[in-house]
Amino acid sequence: MERRKSLMLKIGNVEIGGNAPVSIQSMTTTPTSDVEATLAQILVLADAGCDIVRLGIPDTESARAVKAIKSRGCPIPVVADIHFDHKLALICADGGADGLRINPGNLKKPEHVRDVVKACKNANIPIRIGVNAGSLDRAKYPVPNAEAMVQSALEHIGLLEKEDYYEIKVSLKSHDVVTMIEANRMFTRLRNYPLHLGVTEAGDYAQALVKNSIGIGALLLDGIGDTIRVSITGDPLLEIDAARMILRSLGLRMEGVEIVSCPTCARKEFDVERTVREFLDRTRGIKKYIKVAIMGCVVNGPGEASDADFGVAAGKSGAVLFKKGEVVKKIAAGQILEALLEEAGKYR
Ligand code: SF4
Repeated sequence: MERRKSLMLKIGNVEIGGNAPVSIQSMTTTPTSDVEATLAQILVLADAGCDIVRLGIPDTESARAVKAIKSRGCPIPVVADIHFDHKLALICADGGADGLRINPGNLKKPEHVRDVVKACKNANIPIRIGVNAGSLDRAKYPVPNAEAMVQSALEHIGLLEKEDYYEIKVSLKSHDVVTMIEANRMFTRLRNYPLHLGVTEAGDYAQALVKNSIGIGALLLDGIGDTIRVSITGDPLLEIDAARMILRSLGLRMEGVEIVSCPTCARKEFDVERTVREFLDRTRGIKKYIKVAIMGCVVNGPGEASDADFGVAAGKSGAVLFKKGEVVKKIAAGQILEALLEEAGKYR
């Protein structure tokens, strides 16, 4: 698929826009002022495949913690998420944040915008303007539709461009999938700043996965989108898995384990569901792309999953292990998971 040519910028060592791969973002859920807990969560997210992490900065203590987090082995770039208070932005920029998420139109005075831009220029870091339909100024935009979101983004952008600042990334999020898609499509017809995509306030894992797969997926198929976040109520680790699945399904980033497993039926010879779940749990750390088949019976097993790197299909007296559709050995019943894990270990 042909991707939109957005302006390129860098967040830490991660390239965004241009021809760079679509990057994965998430946000910590610990109090940012708790440096130990936040750093521990960042390490888990980074290990799972998170490229950029965002930290909420509600107060001065949190802003000061950014410096400690950055200087104590934070393995991925950090974006400080600030609302309204320019002083917090200045502390974070000076403390080594790799980017800010702040809307200049929400700062109280024009000189505050100037100070934040100056700090970002000094630190050589970009700003993300994040427009959420739900937090639009209703006095200005009584109807929070796609057009209002884009107009709001353009207003914020104008304030930064006035200060001769162009290291800008934009997000246009809504919990309504269609509004989010329309706003992003509309924006790309007007400006070429890189876009961070996501359906916000998307709900629990199942609903968030569906909404984001449709919203982010539709835009990525249009070639739109430079970074993504699958917003989920729950453990942010789930967001990384979900984002990787979306990118992998579209062939944009072939990483991690893709499962080909049958839905099971009356012919199944073992507990496919449990095997899939346990296999995925125990291979989460694999970075390399592998396609693994777990099929309930030999009737359709090796044939239907012939493009898998390896897989299993069960029969009456055990199972077979196959590679690229060719049976390579027999496995005793009860040894299926172990045989799969042994093969997966070769890809670590
Ligand atoms: S692979 Fe076998 S068990 Fe699985 S759905 Fe197909 S026929 Fe049923």
